[in-house]
Amino acid sequence: MYYSSGNYEAFAHPLPPEGVENKQAYIIGSGLAGLAAACFLVRDGRMPGEKIHILERDPRAGGGCDGWDYPGLGYTMRGGREMDNHFEVMWDLFRDIPSIEDPSVSVLDYYYWLNKRDPNYSLCRATQDRGQDAHTDNKFNLSDKACMEIMNLFFTPEEELQDKVITEYFSDEVLNSNFWLYWRTMFAFENWHSALEMKRYVTRFVHHLGGLPDFSALRFTRYNQYESMILPMVNYLESHGVDFQFNTHVTDVRFSCDDAKDDDRKLATEIRLVREDGPAAVDAAEGVQPDGKTAPAVDLAREETIPLTENDLVFITPGSLVAHSSFGSQDAPARFAPELTPGDGWDLWKRIAAQSPEFGRPEKFCGDPEKSNWESATVTTLDEKILPYIEAICKRDPLSGGVVTGGIVSVKDSSWLLSWTINRQPQFRAQPEGQVCVWLYGLFTDVPGDYVKKPMRDCTGKEICEEWLYHLGVPEEQIEELAEHSANTVPCMMPYITAFFMPRADGDRPLVVPEGAVNFAFIGQFAETPRDTIFTTEYSMRTGMEAVYTLLDIDRGVPEVWGSVFDLRVLLNATVLLRDGKPATDMNMNVLEKLLLSRGLKEIEHTDIYGLLKEFGVIPTTDENRDVPVPATGAVWPGIH
Ligand SMILES: Cc1cc2nc3c(=O)[nH]c(=O)nc-3n(C[C@H](O)[C@H](O)[C@H](O)COP(=O)(O)OP(=O)(O)OC[C@H]3O[C@@H](n4cnc5c(N)ncnc54)[C@H](O)[C@@H]3O)c2cc1C
Repeated sequence: MYYSSGNYEAFAHPLPPEGVENKQAYIIGSGLAGLAAACFLVRDGRMPGEKIHILERDPRAGGGCDGWDYPGLGYTMRGGREMDNHFEVMWDLFRDIPSIEDPSVSVLDYYYWLNKRDPNYSLCRATQDRGQDAHTDNKFNLSDKACMEIMNLFFTPEEELQDKVITEYFSDEVLNSNFWLYWRTMFAFENWHSALEMKRYVTRFVHHLGGLPDFSALRFTRYNQYESMILPMVNYLESHGVDFQFNTHVTDVRFSCDDAKDDDRKLATEIRLVREDGPAAVDAAEGVQPDGKTAPAVDLAREETIPLTENDLVFITPGSLVAHSSFGSQDAPARFAPELTPGDGWDLWKRIAAQSPEFGRPEKFCGDPEKSNWESATVTTLDEKILPYIEAICKRDPLSGGVVTGGIVSVKDSSWLLSWTINRQPQFRAQPEGQVCVWLYGLFTDVPGDYVKKPMRDCTGKEICEEWLYHLGVPEEQIEELAEHSANTVPCMMPYITAFFMPRADGDRPLVVPEGAVNFAFIGQFAETPRDTIFTTEYSMRTGMEAVYTLLDIDRGVPEVWGSVFDLRVLLNATVLLRDGKPATDMNMNVLEKLLLSRGLKEIEHTDIYGLLKEFGVIPTTDENRDVPVPATGAVWPGIH
């Protein structure tokens, strides 16, 4: 497997890989990673669909990429996906998958046209004082010291960031800024999370700095991502005859490997699993226990095995961001139930990791769910009474069918640190006219709310809605009535939602294809691939592509992670944007530093470097340098896309 960029590799089709006719594949997990792996096996590996078996514990595909109308509960979306134009692997695949909205065009084309016609941007990024605009006004509000702290992290090598936490790099100068409000609410970073992953994020998305404060960097699908992304992939795979096996809990994968030997050949030798049927299986898999019942454990006495040979390829999704997530209802809280059980993604990874040090250290990620949980809720408005409060904040009609909030609105002074968003309505194809599906989440689930004096995790759907309505500015005497009769709210607690942000070091996540692996690969958020960032649809799909391309030795480049961090134009642009447009010459400097800077600039005055500094505003345009030529960069300043 090798990386590439540019059109030559992007548009070429690989030749069928050697020996594929003798192979079959077992994919554990039908999240985005597993589905992407299956699609690449079909499209680029030319493996017949009937030789691809997807083993999934849930009763449907999609994993964490969901959006369902759950009988008896209502509409639920555990999350909403903010996406980027440089999710290179995702678009590589989606150009060939027919869309659900219009099967005569690809997912990519539909999405492209939609986001051209109806671009995303926010008109109110944050509120305070019960629905008042917090007037962050697209400013990062970073001091020179704060900028230096961010730059320092940006340039620190990953080797030095092993097991480090964000607060070892950022002081209150960063943590009290608008930058951090935008950042942590948008990406769900907590102060105690991994400095290494934070560095990956700032480098990976450096080209989006200009579009961060108002979300003009983002794009969204037409419907929820289960309908707009998962269903098209499932349809594509089913049309090729891929074998989906639902309610199938993989309890273990066994390997023959001896790390002590020189020859560290590792072979997956058998898959162990339990098949469940009926409503109990559905409840256990989805964690739907609004009545407080405990989900039945998988019955290990019913374990079956699938023996494997070198020609049986196994793709394993270890861990899961939505494992043990549980839905509440309008009248019941979602349970915080992080205990691991056989047949879940974490227990499976633990059993696998026990067989070789190269299979990672799951406990680094799942060991402290108090630090990796948060809770979301889907509010469905049932009449028009709440809509004017929404419109007053986001300044758009929620029922227009187009962009509404244009990304999350964060409630700056909320104890739960609530953020909420409304994407294009309807979010579900079957959603009744006039109803609006709102997604909200709270980063801090263990502290009392500002209106509802209870921690979010102890609140029913109705109480969560009350807290949200309070922060929308609904008069207090109307809050209870509206939460009760004008909305249905389904909470979802996710104990491991940010498990991948826990501080980590090399080796904590297994490589996509570990050293010596003959017939297996790890995919998804807990497999290690260089440079890319977790908690993205792209990361999961990328690991699926890299795994397939490596195990089948497909002779075409995997698109590299977008290389904006190596683009001087982007870096210069970012230095100015980070300082809210101020040139570097305005930084606090002593007389000597100022002198050295001005001498240095004189030295390079007649070079392209000087022209670039001027073009991107790193140095101001003055009477003296007005006529200095700038190189033709082709960049669209200030948001280089
Ligand atoms: C709340 C939320 C918000 C998000 N926001 C964004 C965003 O803004 N932008 C963005 O790009 N991405 C976002 N994502 C991330 C993106 O949706 C996920 O990264 C992606 O869907 C994960 O896919 P996966 O296949 O790696 O893992 P998962 O979705 O976790 O899939 C794993 C699958 O394996 C199955 N499984 C686990 N264990 C077993 C077993 N033992 N046997 C059989 N099956 C098993 C699970 O049931 C599941 O279906 C968000 C996700 C969530 C949940």
